[in-house]
This record gives sequence, structure tokens and C-alpha cells, in this order.
Amino acid sequence: MKIARLALSLCLPFCLFAAAPSGAADAHFDACLSSLRADAAAKGVSNAAFDRLTRGLTPDMSVIEFLDYQPEFRTPIWDYLASLVDDERVADGQALREKWAASLAAAADRYQVDPATVIAIWGVESNYGRNFGKRPLLTSLGTLSCFGRRQAYFRGEFLSTLKILDAGDIAPERLVGSWAGAFGHTQFMPSTFLRLAVDGDGDGKRDLMDSVPDALASTANFLRKAGWRKGEPWGYEVSLPAGFDSSGAGRRNKQPLSQWAARGVRRADGQALAASNAAAGLLLPAGPKGPAFLVFTNFDAIYGYNAAESYALAIALLADRLQGGKALVTPWPTDDPGLSRQERREVQTLLAARGYPIGEIDGMIGSNSRQAIEAEQKRLGMPVNGRPGQKLLAALRSAAPAGK
Ligand code: CA
Repeated sequence: MKIARLALSLCLPFCLFAAAPSGAADAHFDACLSSLRADAAAKGVSNAAFDRLTRGLTPDMSVIEFLDYQPEFRTPIWDYLASLVDDERVADGQALREKWAASLAAAADRYQVDPATVIAIWGVESNYGRNFGKRPLLTSLGTLSCFGRRQAYFRGEFLSTLKILDAGDIAPERLVGSWAGAFGHTQFMPSTFLRLAVDGDGDGKRDLMDSVPDALASTANFLRKAGWRKGEPWGYEVSLPAGFDSSGAGRRNKQPLSQWAARGVRRADGQALAASNAAAGLLLPAGPKGPAFLVFTNFDAIYGYNAAESYALAIALLADRLQGGKALVTPWPTDDPGLSRQERREVQTLLAARGYPIGEIDGMIGSNSRQAIEAEQKRLGMPVNGRPGQKLLAALRSAAPAGK
């Protein structure tokens, strides 16, 4: 408070212009929060608990920018998978599967799901607990409840967060997550937590922030409730005969395996399709010239976790790799494949050596890295699109640094 007043006195009269909108936002926020007090009470959060948990809460308008952000750069599926299903994530997952073997076996047995898929979700959602997001949930969700396009949805999540904190499962200062309020090892939204989180380690609390057994059991419970069928595959890569008519493709357009077999579809590894009547959809993530997959009900269960087919495919392929599965037989239809995180870090290191302000070498291609890539693409006579691919990496490895 003292600091704010001092800052204001230093920058008068100019700051009044900047301060006015933020003051108006604060007033709106306070009124908006007050209006949620009764909703919280109706959900079982007492007025006293509401006041205690929201005291001093101020909006963080930066989350609204994420809400409105429309990526102009649509990530190709081969780039998306190259960083999510890379050798590092496979090795890390295999090590952690050993480390948490007892908890994992208990969770998989209790909910009758596949342990490798549970580990794969953990690996993709938070890089096995390394990346939770750092934003206090009440601040982000309070802001999204009172500003922006999807206030009704976020109010539900805000009230769910209050319920979690009021129940004492997780301490308020520990409850941080993504800008949208997903949190913990497996990035549950608060309403998902209330519905599906379970106590895996038996301490009486459901803690997705600090308990790996709770996170693994909760993810297993999610998959179970989403319709997982034990012992069945998610699907597998297939090969299509020449001249195949792909007009019936689609995850939802499921046909009996016998029909796919009759149309000449075979497993990519050469095995015959199972002689069962199980229904499968044909997934062509990059069109008929790329890898093809037949997907079953369990693929839909993974899709339920995060409604994107590319996401479900990343989980499915990572789960396969964790169990010793090989890379895809059919290559992605590109002459410039994507980069693993190790290769992305190499790109960042090579760019930093050329003097670009990359910041932390973390394998995450943010706006600094993208701008540097564009500058180097221009210099190297490559198409300028800011995309880190194998061609860029090869060019950076062989080209002399600029100005040297
Ligand atoms: Ca627990």
C-alpha cells in the first residue's frame, strides 16, 4: 500500500491516466466478487470462509490476454508430437514408472485402467510434475469470472476452487496453476477435481499438488469414468491400400474391424486386424498421405481428458513408447520434420551464440525464440515463418554465425 502511494506521488500527473482504468477495474472486480458471495454460500462455502479466502484478492488482467490469444501459427501435428513424445519424455516416464510402481499398480488395479496411459498423461500434462504453472488459482479464476468472454464458465471453476480450499485438501498458497486454472501433476480443473480426484496415499486428503499417488489415482479414476476398457488397446497404426477412399475417416465414424479389413486396411506392423467385431474409427491426423490409425473406445477415453485428437494421439503414442513400442512406420508428410525438446534447446543455444536474446534455454519456443528464428531464416534465405524444424537446425549447425 505504501509503495503504491509513493509511486503515485512520483509520477503525478501522468499516472492518473494509467491509474484510472485500473481503479475502475478494481472497483468492478470488488463488486463482482461480492456478487459471487451468495453463489458460494449456495454451494456450501460459508460467508465467513468466502471472506477469509478472498480477502485482499485483486485481479490479474494478464490472464485475459491468454483468453483472447488466437495463435496465428497453427502447430503442425508432427511438431506437436516431436516435442511431446520425445526420447527424454520416454526415458523420464520409464524411470518414474519404476519409482512409483506400487502406487501406479494400486491405481491401475483399483480403476481397471492401463498404467502406461496414466503415466503418459502425467508426462504430457506437467512433464511429470516439473511444470505446474505458477499463477494463484483464486486470482486467475476470480479475474476470469469478472472480465472477458467466458465468465459463466469460470465462475463455476472459481466457486469449485473455493470449495477445495474450504475443505482443506490443499493449502491456499500451494494452489497455483495455469492461467485458466488447471493445476497439479495432472492439471485438473477445479470442477474436475471435485468430481474425480481421489486420495491415493491414504492420508485423508486429495492433493494433486504434492502427492504423486493422489495424482496417479485421480487420473486413473478419470480414465475409468471416461469409459476406459481394461485390456483393450487405444488403437494402432495401420497401412492403407493404394487408392483407398478415405472419405469415411474420423474418430467418431466407427466401423467393425471386419469392414476395415475387407477394405484392405492392415496393421502397420504387418499383423492382421483382430478378428473381432470391435468398432474402430480411422484417424488421419495429416490426411491420407500421413500415418493412419484405427482408434477404439479407449482413444475416446483419452480424448475426454482434453478434447483434441492431437492431444489424445500424443498420450496414446507416448504410452506405447513407454512400453517399448517403436516409432511410427509411415513418416509424416513433410520434408522438414519437427524437433524434440533437446533439439529445440540446441536451436536456442545456437541462436543465443549468435547474439539473440533468447533468455532461458528451456526448449520452449516463445516469442523471443520465434523472432530470432525468423531473423535467421531471412538471413539464411529460408522461408520466414518462425518455425523450428530439422532444416533450420541443420542450417544453424553448419552456417557461420552472423557477423563473424
Ligand atoms: Ca492423499
